[in-house]
Amino acid sequence: MEIFDSAELLDRDAITEIQLKRLKTTLARTRKCDFYKKRLADAGIGENSISSPDALENIPFTTKDDLRSQYPKGLLCVNQNEIVRMHCSSGTTGSPVAICHTQNDINSWADLMARCMYMVGVRKEDVFQNMSGYGLFTGGLGIHFGAERIGCMTIPAGAGNSRRQIKLAKDFGTTVAHILPSYALILGEHIRNMGEDPADYPLKIALVGAEPYTEEFRKRLETLFNMKVYNSYGLSEMNGPGVGFECLQQNGLHIWEDAYIPEIIDPVSGKHVDDGEIGELVMTSLCREGMPILRYRTRDLTRFIPGDCECGRKHRRMDRILGRADDMFIVKGVNIYPMQIEQVIMTFPEVGQNYHILLENDGLGDVMRVQVEIRDEYFVEDMRILHNLQKTIAQRLRDEILVTPKVDLVENNSLPRTEGKAVRVTDSRQKK
Ligand code: ADP
Ligand code: ZN
Repeated sequence: MEIFDSAELLDRDAITEIQLKRLKTTLARTRKCDFYKKRLADAGIGENSISSPDALENIPFTTKDDLRSQYPKGLLCVNQNEIVRMHCSSGTTGSPVAICHTQNDINSWADLMARCMYMVGVRKEDVFQNMSGYGLFTGGLGIHFGAERIGCMTIPAGAGNSRRQIKLAKDFGTTVAHILPSYALILGEHIRNMGEDPADYPLKIALVGAEPYTEEFRKRLETLFNMKVYNSYGLSEMNGPGVGFECLQQNGLHIWEDAYIPEIIDPVSGKHVDDGEIGELVMTSLCREGMPILRYRTRDLTRFIPGDCECGRKHRRMDRILGRADDMFIVKGVNIYPMQIEQVIMTFPEVGQNYHILLENDGLGDVMRVQVEIRDEYFVEDMRILHNLQKTIAQRLRDEILVTPKVDLVENNSLPRTEGKAVRVTDSRQKK
C-alpha cells in the first residue's frame, strides 16, 4: 500500500494512545476560552478526569447553536495574533459559524487533505482542477492546499462557469477534479451538448462530496466521465474537507482518528448506538489550536461500518451520509430523506441530471410532488411512453418510501440550479 504518512498505518492500540494524548492536550487548550472553561467545570471535568478515550462520554456535547452563540471569536483558545485564517460554514441550515485557524492548524489540515488525495492515487504528476467555490467555503482553499502539498499542478477554477471549466480542463489536461455531485452531472451534460463525450476527457479521478449523493449517482458519474469517484466528507467545524475519505475500496469513508474522535449517537438519548447502527455523527478535533471543538453534534446521519477495511488501514470507516437530521421530512406520517428518492430515480436511464421535491397541501392533505428532468433523447412526442415512465417511477418510489408521490417529468435543464449545494426540497405546506 502506498501511503502519504505513517499515521495511516497506525494500529488500533496506537490510535487509542494518540487519541488519549491529544484529547488531554485539547482539553487543556479549550480551558483557555470562557465558554469551555465553564462547560467543563459545570460538568465536573477536571484536569485529570480523562484517563481513557471512553471517558469522553462525560464531556457535554457542543451544538451548532453553541457555535453561533460564540460567534465570532468566543471560542478562540489562542491570542488573535496567532490566527492566520478564518473560514465559515456554507450556512446551508441557518446563520453561519466561523472557525479560526493558526498556522499549525492550516498545516495539519493540508497534510490530512493530502493524505486523502494520495490514498486514492493522486500524485505529483497530476493536474488538479478545483471546481469548488473559493472564499469562506472550506472546499476551496482546504482542498487546494492539500493538492499543492502533494505537488499537483493546481488550478483554482472555482465554482460554476462550465464553459471556462471545460476550457481549462482541455487546455491543461486535467486528470483530477474536485466537484460537487449536483454540478458534476450538469458539467457532463454541458460537454455532451457541445457534441463531445465526457468519457474522452483525461479526467480519471474525481473527489466528490460536500453534499449527500447515492451509490446510483456515483455509478452514473463514473460511467459518464469514465473515471473513479471518491466520496469526500468534511465540515467547517472540523476544518472542512479531509475529515473522512474513501480509499480505493470505495466501501465507506475512513475517518482519520489520529486527528478526530468520531462517535455515533442516538440523537434523542445522546448515547452511543451499537456498532453498525445508524445515528448522528459526533466529532472531537484533536489537533486544533485556534478553535478546538469537543463532541460536536454534526446533525449528519451515518453508521460505522463494522470490521476491517481490505485496504489494511485501521482508521474506522463511516458509511456515506444518509442526510442531515434537518433534511428529513414527513409526508402522511412517513419519515423520508431526499436520498431515498434519488436512489430510485437515478436508476432510470431516462432521468437527466436534476430533480426536485415539492411538498404541498391541496386542502385534503399532504401532496408530495417529485419533478424529474428527462434526458432530451427520451423526451418524446408520444405521450403514452412518457405516461408509462411516469407511472413506473411513481410505483418504484412508492415501493421505497411507502407514499405514492405525484411525478412530473420535465425537460432537461428546466429545473432551477443553485451555485452552491443543491436544494433538493421545497416545503410550501406551512404557508397554507
Ligand atoms: P453547511 O453545514 O452550512 O453546509 P459546511 O460547508 O461546513 O456547512 O458543510 C458541511 C456539511 O456538508 C456536513 O455537515 C454535511 O451535512 C455535508 N457534507 C459534507 N460532505 C458530505 C458528503 N461527502 N456526503 C454528504 N454530506 C456531506
Ligand atoms: Zn480502506
